[in-house]
Amino acid sequence: MTTREASPSEDLFLGCLLGGALGDALGYPIEFVRSEKQIIERFGATAPPDLSYASEVRVSDDTQMTLFSAEALLRARSAGSGAIVPFALGAYQRWYVTQELAPRDRVRHRSGEGLLLADPRLYARRAPGQTCLSALSSSFTRPSIATIDDPPNGSKGCGAVMRAAPFGLAARTREDAFVVARDAAVLTHGHPSGYLSAAYLAALVHDIARGATLEEAMGLADALLVREREHQEVAAALTRARALAAGGALSPSAIEQLGGGWVAEEALAIAIACVLQATARSVAQTLWRAVAHGGDSDSTGSITGNLVGVMFGASALPVHWLSQLELRDLIERVARDLHAAAMGSGRPDPTDYPAADGVVRVPRWNA
Ligand SMILES: [Mg+2]
Repeated sequence: MTTREASPSEDLFLGCLLGGALGDALGYPIEFVRSEKQIIERFGATAPPDLSYASEVRVSDDTQMTLFSAEALLRARSAGSGAIVPFALGAYQRWYVTQELAPRDRVRHRSGEGLLLADPRLYARRAPGQTCLSALSSSFTRPSIATIDDPPNGSKGCGAVMRAAPFGLAARTREDAFVVARDAAVLTHGHPSGYLSAAYLAALVHDIARGATLEEAMGLADALLVREREHQEVAAALTRARALAAGGALSPSAIEQLGGGWVAEEALAIAIACVLQATARSVAQTLWRAVAHGGDSDSTGSITGNLVGVMFGASALPVHWLSQLELRDLIERVARDLHAAAMGSGRPDPTDYPAADGVVRVPRWNA
C-alpha cells in the first residue's frame, strides 16, 4: 500500500458522505418492512430509477449523525485540538437538541452554534435510535465522558458504526482513525461489538481513501481489531461476510444469513459483503442489494454507501439519485470543509465551526 499511499482527493470525501446519504435515503422507506420478499415483490430486484420509489426522499438519523461526526472533527480543527472525543460528545449533544427541542425554541438555540444547528432542515426526527437518544440524554448529567472502561450502557446497536466514516476520512493515521472512532462510538454504545465495528469501518475508510483496495484495508484493520478486548464477535461477522461474498452473487436471502443489521457487527458485515462484490459501474445495484432485506435497511445502506463512495468517488454515484437527495448541498459543503481541514489548508471558518467542544453539562440538582 505504501507505494500508492496518496493524499485523498476531494471527490473521495464527497463520495463517502454523499454515498452514505444515498444508501440511507434508499433504505429509509423500507427500514421497517420486515421481509425481503415483500420488498422485492413491491419494488423489484433491481435498483429503482428514482430515490422517491416508495415515498418522498428523506435522509435519516444516520446521515444527520454522520454530519455531526464531521462537525466534531472540524470544530476540533478550529480549536487546534487533537483530542477529538469531547468534540464528538458536544456534536452528538447538538444532534440530540435537533431531535428534542420544541419548535418554538429552535431559532433561539441556533444562533452562534455553527453551521449545522443553523440549518432548519436538521431539526427533523427520522426514526432516531433510542440508544443514542437515551445515552445522550444521560450525558448531560454524567460526571465524566464515557470510555470503554466506563461505558454508558451495554448496547451494540448499529447507531455508532453508521456515523463513523468521517473519523476515517480525517485521521492522520489508521491507528488514529480506529481509536478515535472507537472512543466516539462508546459515547453512546458500550458493547465492544458496537464500538469496535465503528472503529473497523473508520480504519477501512482511512486506508481506502489513501489508495488501499478494500481487501488490503480489511487486512490492515483486522490487525488492529484483534488487539482489542472482546473483538471475537466482530471478527466472526467479518469472516461470515467474506465467505458469503466469495461464494458467488449475493441474493437478498443470502444477505439475511448475516442477520438483520440491527446490531453493529451485522450491519458492518452486510455492508462489507455487498461492497466486496461492487464495481464502479454497479454502485446503484450494490446499494439496492444492501437495503433490500428485512433488516435495518437505512443503516446497512448508509455504511455500504460510505464504502462504495470512498472506493469509487462521488463521480461514480448515480447522478439522478444525487439530484433528488435531501441535504445534498449541506453534505457537500461539510465534505469539502472536512477535506480542506484534513489536507491542512488552514483553520475552518469559526462561524461555521466554533472553536469549542460545546459539551453541555447540567449539574444534578440532588448531587
Ligand atoms: Mg436511520
